[in-house]
Amino acid sequence: MSTVSEAAVQAGSKYEPVIGLEVHVQLLTATKIFCACSTQFGAPPNTNVCPVCLGLPGALPVLNRQVVEFAVLASMALNCRISEASIFARKNYFYPDLPKGYQISQYDRPLAEHGYIDIETAVGGTKRIGITRLHLEEDAGKSLHEGFSDAEHSYIDLNRSGTPLAEIVSEPDLRSPEEAFEYLTRLKEIILYTGVSDCNMEEGSLRCDANVSIRPRGQKEFGTKTEIKNVNSFRFVRQALEYEIERQIEVLEEGGRITQETRLYNSTEGRTYGMRSKEHAHDYRYFPEPDLLPLVVDRAWQEKIKDKLPELPEARRSRMVNEYGITMQDAGVLTATRSLADQFEEAARAAKNPKKVANLVQSELMGRLKAKNLEIEQSPISMKGVAFSADLVESGAISGKMLKDLYDLAFERSQDFPVVYEKEKPQQISDDATIEKMIDEVIAASPKQLEQYRAGKTTIIGFFVGQVMKASKGQANPEKVNELLKKKLG
Ligand code: ADP
Ligand code: MG
Ligand code: ZN
Repeated sequence: MSTVSEAAVQAGSKYEPVIGLEVHVQLLTATKIFCACSTQFGAPPNTNVCPVCLGLPGALPVLNRQVVEFAVLASMALNCRISEASIFARKNYFYPDLPKGYQISQYDRPLAEHGYIDIETAVGGTKRIGITRLHLEEDAGKSLHEGFSDAEHSYIDLNRSGTPLAEIVSEPDLRSPEEAFEYLTRLKEIILYTGVSDCNMEEGSLRCDANVSIRPRGQKEFGTKTEIKNVNSFRFVRQALEYEIERQIEVLEEGGRITQETRLYNSTEGRTYGMRSKEHAHDYRYFPEPDLLPLVVDRAWQEKIKDKLPELPEARRSRMVNEYGITMQDAGVLTATRSLADQFEEAARAAKNPKKVANLVQSELMGRLKAKNLEIEQSPISMKGVAFSADLVESGAISGKMLKDLYDLAFERSQDFPVVYEKEKPQQISDDATIEKMIDEVIAASPKQLEQYRAGKTTIIGFFVGQVMKASKGQANPEKVNELLKKKLG
């Protein structure tokens, strides 16, 4: 190992990173937050606009009730305290995609505060990450640049102007890029479960700004932070933070100082760039929005919204572990999305052995999905299909080996398990002589069980059926086996 990297490792352990995340989530309403324009993604530029979201003088905002309900639901899912009265404020700044010259947001009296998310830590166990606040705001428009080196043309699309956002601000409780990644994963999972956003990062429905500073280990005061803006995947957030922490360490180790600034992450180069210094950019001159009344969400309304809160991922995992006898790891995979968990539970409840269903997902499905680079939602074999296959193995109708072959075929043909099974179903052995021969062999090999049966324990017939099925590699007709066995034993 070179001395350079040893020095870097030493410097690395001398400092502790401090990270806080600001996440913008687009709320899934059909219309915008202060007008009736559509929020549809991908509409032709400047077609979903009106005097309100264009910021024309004299136009008045009217708050969308559904936006409030979604934001309250998200706040509850994040364990926040809801304020009965919160205030909209104007955040003033100039930008070409902001025609009003201010963004309507919430400032000193946000909708919700004092929440938290529990994350898994690398060493095992959980850690509670505080959520400072969740507030409502409107999105700005979008600038589009055309041309190669210097943009030759710039365009403004105001379709997005006035799209409802919930901004979720974490406490500076995160201590590593890995923890930040875990926090974002859990946050997204929770929001998806509530159904208030699709959290689609490609379409900008979930955006993350990462704040990071370092301090000598053991020091109480935080260092000066930088903010990395608009990173568009969780993986990139982690990479950007790793880079930025290294950069800050280098600056300090060389005797320099960190400037408080906004930086951009270039994922192709894997590094961050200074964009603007924060001191200047941050004089927003917030003041209460005179065109909107305080937002009042009284107890009664809160209770009504609370009824819509679904079982959240963490609670669901624990329940599933108890209910189906599966491991926490199984439960983690199976609750990745609400719809997957719903599908699993529906299938598992109908199956003979729910644990077998979970096992097959882990042992047969996940590996094949990974090899084909598919998410579990894209699996050719549905949860119902897995449950169906589990029942077949349980009853001995097919062997483990056959199941594997059928799974291979299902993936090859992109067909669900029952379809492939119907087509490929192993030829059943139904002729009496062959089955009787197998029965004789099984009986001869199981004198103890025979004795028990003769002594009156007739339920042990199940054992014999199983043995015969096994001997026939699952191909014997189970009804025939039953019938002939009864005759022989009786
Ligand atoms: P600003 O006014 O610059 O936006 P805030 O106090 O609103 O700063 O905090 C924004 C985010 O930065 C929050 O998520 C917070 O947890 C985080 N944060 C604040 N101070 C620090 C720090 N010294 N190091 C890392 N993160 C920080
Ligand atoms: Mg901020
Ligand atoms: Zn509008």
